[in-house]
Amino acid sequence: MAATVEEFGLWINGRWESPEGAKRFTTLNPATREPIASFVSGSPKDVERAVTAAHRAFPAWRDTPAPKRGEILLRAARRLAERKEEVGRWVTREMGKVIAEGKGDVQEAIDFIEYMAGEGRRLFGETVPSELKSKFCLTVRQPKGAVACITPWNFPTAIPNWKIAAALITGNTVVFKPASNTARCAVEVVRIYEDAGLPPGVLNLVTGPGGVVGNALIDDPRIRTVSFTGGVEAGREVYLRGARSLKMVHLELGGKNPVILLEDAAIPLAVDGVLFGAFGTSGQRCTATSRLIIHEKIYDQVLAELDRRLDHFPVGDPLDPATAMGPVASADQERKILEYIEIGRKEARLRRGGRKLTGGLYDRGFFIEPTVFETAHGTRISKEEIFGPVLSVLKVGSYEEAVRVANDVDYGLSSALYTRDVNKAFRAIQDLEAGITYINAPTIGAEVQLPFGGIKQTGNGGREAGSAAIEEFTEIKTVFVDFSERLQKAQIDVE
Ligand code: NAP
Repeated sequence: MAATVEEFGLWINGRWESPEGAKRFTTLNPATREPIASFVSGSPKDVERAVTAAHRAFPAWRDTPAPKRGEILLRAARRLAERKEEVGRWVTREMGKVIAEGKGDVQEAIDFIEYMAGEGRRLFGETVPSELKSKFCLTVRQPKGAVACITPWNFPTAIPNWKIAAALITGNTVVFKPASNTARCAVEVVRIYEDAGLPPGVLNLVTGPGGVVGNALIDDPRIRTVSFTGGVEAGREVYLRGARSLKMVHLELGGKNPVILLEDAAIPLAVDGVLFGAFGTSGQRCTATSRLIIHEKIYDQVLAELDRRLDHFPVGDPLDPATAMGPVASADQERKILEYIEIGRKEARLRRGGRKLTGGLYDRGFFIEPTVFETAHGTRISKEEIFGPVLSVLKVGSYEEAVRVANDVDYGLSSALYTRDVNKAFRAIQDLEAGITYINAPTIGAEVQLPFGGIKQTGNGGREAGSAAIEEFTEIKTVFVDFSERLQKAQIDVE
């Protein structure tokens, strides 16, 4: 008999509803393939109701003073902090990252909601002098209206909150379409705002396939901005679809992030960073280290240290605190990563790993060995995003060659350089084509108070988090107040 699982509906206008006859889908624990819960596969009609609710709720939410909106966000952050352990376990159970990272995902959400709550007492505009007498000029930030937030599965509580908290504090209302793989975590995201007393309709959740729910959201003229994080392929479709109605589309897409080790790098420190960057979250972070570019003078030494460390790198049950790496997130992920490993076997030298793990608990889930290839620059595995525990190692003869190789990919999200040479470090900050550069630290480790995003095919120029998050969800209104009591003409009254 099939196991029964908890069933969830859609969160629309402050109510959980299960449309009659709706199709359903189930999420799975990637470590065990056990079903987690069942969700509504939303239809265009469901999207229509959710957008209507968000659209209707907008005027009252917009007119709620921003510090009051901040109080609700702060309550949501506190609620999530109380439930961090429980929600962290849902993250680990539903997408497979190890429990320390599952809780880290939730902590990032808490940090960001708190940060945005404080933004309710800032939301700065500018005051600028006028060229005319008795005239006052300023800018104010205004919300856009109802917005759509479409999110991936790899940070199932942090990324939705990066979008939702920023959209809410600035006075927008939201329809949230989470990744189908992590719908249970999305329920937890919504619940904290429900518990915090967010008014009905201000946040709505529609689960279901990207091609159905996402498309209906993008096509709805009442949706003023689409904030999308995911892969390049889907991102391009979303961008093109949004362009038809000249919709603002914010894209945060993939990465192929390099770590450069110069000849004076502190090797144990660098290897620590590479292991965390390449195999944390089973390599499924947009900022994951997927290329290790090593100066030839230390190449053999670094690889020997990497091997030594990987000989004791426990892969297994992600809920066990001793585990370093859990499963990959789904059968689809496993298939795609194993395909890339096959490509790598043909075009590069497999140094270690490369197999699906089998036997015991491995047979129940989607486990792949941490995999290291030595490769020339230009191979597919060294240029395409794999989004799994696969590291390409490249040997270079100089700083200049290292930067050339690092930059010669379509993406530009994160990058890192290990050196003790302060001049080279500053040169790299200038030379590396990426939205983020770390010096003597791995490619991962974003902090919420700083902008996050990339260049080239990683996005279309926007940034999330930090004060930049406010840009994404507001329009700037420029205001002129003339108290001269006569007609003054800019550019004409120049005498
Ligand atoms: P994905 O397949 O592109 O899906 C992302 C989201 O878009 C999901 O909610 C998905 O729904 C939805 N979607 C898929 N096709 C769509 C379409 N045609 N129209 C509208 N929505 C659509 O990406 P993923 O596999 O979840 O995440 C992995 C990718 O995200 C990687 O490339 C990674 O680098 C990137 N990422 C980037 C950042 C960043 O900030 N730059 C952060 C994290 C992840 P379904 O789940 O229902 O398919």
